Amino acid sequence: MTDVDYCVVGGGFAGLTAALRLKQAGRSVALLEARDRLGGRTFTEVRADGSWIDRGGAWIGPGQDRISALMNEFGVSSYKQYTDGEAMMVVDGKQHRYEGTIPWTMSPWAAMNLGAVLLELGRMCKSIPLEAPWAAKNAGKWDRISLAQWLNDNVLSKPAHELLETAIAGMYTSAASEVSLLFVLYQMASGGGPGFVLGIKDGAQDARPVGGMGAISRPMAAEIGDWIHLSQPVRRIHQDADGVTVRSDDSTVRARRAIVAVPLAIASQILYEPMLPVDRSFLHQRMPSGSIVKIAAVYDEPFWRADGLTGQSAAPGSPATITIDACTDTGRPGILCVITEGPDARHLGRLDEAERRRTVLAALVERFGDKAGVPLDYVEQNWSVERYSGGGMLSHAPTGVLTQFGHALREPCGRIHWAGTESSAVMCGWVDGAIRSGERAASEVMEHEAVTMAGGRASDR
Ligand SMILES: Cc1cc2nc3c(=O)[nH]c(=O)nc-3n(C[C@H](O)[C@H](O)[C@H](O)COP(=O)(O)OP(=O)(O)OC[C@H]3O[C@@H](n4cnc5c(N)ncnc54)[C@H](O)[C@@H]3O)c2cc1C
Repeated sequence: MTDVDYCVVGGGFAGLTAALRLKQAGRSVALLEARDRLGGRTFTEVRADGSWIDRGGAWIGPGQDRISALMNEFGVSSYKQYTDGEAMMVVDGKQHRYEGTIPWTMSPWAAMNLGAVLLELGRMCKSIPLEAPWAAKNAGKWDRISLAQWLNDNVLSKPAHELLETAIAGMYTSAASEVSLLFVLYQMASGGGPGFVLGIKDGAQDARPVGGMGAISRPMAAEIGDWIHLSQPVRRIHQDADGVTVRSDDSTVRARRAIVAVPLAIASQILYEPMLPVDRSFLHQRMPSGSIVKIAAVYDEPFWRADGLTGQSAAPGSPATITIDACTDTGRPGILCVITEGPDARHLGRLDEAERRRTVLAALVERFGDKAGVPLDYVEQNWSVERYSGGGMLSHAPTGVLTQFGHALREPCGRIHWAGTESSAVMCGWVDGAIRSGERAASEVMEHEAVTMAGGRASDR
């Protein structure tokens, strides 16, 4: 039995940040992580030539101040995403090359429709109170319909509809019919609006940390040190009047409070004793994650750049739905990232490994030419089959959930506090949101101590 001030469950960015801040504040911590590695939905693979591949979360953008602060703290620099050249949109088998965010070349009507819809989404996002999206003036109306229904009613041009559905539903890695419009607006608003979410330059894919996300999580882990316990899936958390007892298969931690920093979609895999309040426990049953396959095709050089392409492409319905240049700061080797999400990702996942690779490379050849068909290396990560992620990128709310159960997202349940990107009102769904949630949860547990020491009602020790 380990006896500590606080127990943190989960060693993704949320849990690592919570543990780090508690340690820096002089508290003792045990961090229990289910996998044999840290980082959760981020996973940086360092290659023999010194380049790296982010198999999960990778990009950062303006306004993500807490990840910037951590990078400064650990001396990690960033580099800009490669955007010199044209992006590509494939509609009905026809390739359209364009510069900027909107594919004007596909048809003026489609482009105008797309621009108008993005403006409207931005206007709707502005009416969402981030700390309580369920209290927005139109919350009830927007939570009753799915993203699919809203797109059907508001996007008349077929190519604009396809592009928006791919781009927006892609964020939730699900079919547009699975996600509540209110949740979409809230999540977009938490990042500053659709321009940020869908944009590359000045958007959510503006830059990357040199060395990948692992360059940040590794020094965090080093500072937390041997208070981290890997391969310890937490099975049970029991709370009583004096503290919590957290049990994995072969360890037990006794602490004053626990911070649970696992994805909402799998938070109910832990047995809570006594049972959690109904709204929190029902929230666990109602916020699933979607499917995403992320692939890195590695070439000796980024040949698409010489063809005047940024490497960014979108082809709704293709097995390689989205591509983006994922080279390191040196630009060598050439790394093309392929992202396939939602129903297309589930379909891809059902193919055997060789067939999956053949299908994806064939789609790349159609878009980028023969060179794309012969990568030096091919690395794929199917997040849908990751037991301790439960899918990716984030857990989302289907219709009706945010207005009914959203208030339980951050409310502590006795001595159990909640972290994880899904609980962040700012940058919800991104690594930055995970970091914010870890810092908030660390402050919350320490505020309880302060109440105790001031002779307040909370008996903390
Ligand atoms: C393919 C992909 C691409 C993405 N791209 C980006 C991007 O470019 N930029 C960006 O900012 N974000 C991106 N994201 C999202 C980002 O990765 C997540 O928002 C962030 O990593 C979430 O961190 P977290 O700590 O909240 O959760 P997680 O990273 O999921 O951490 C939770 C941890 O809890 C552990 N755990 C689970 N159950 C238990 C248990 N019972 N006991 C103990 N431990 C447990 C898990 O193993 C995991 O380590 C992407 C995600 C994916 C999957």
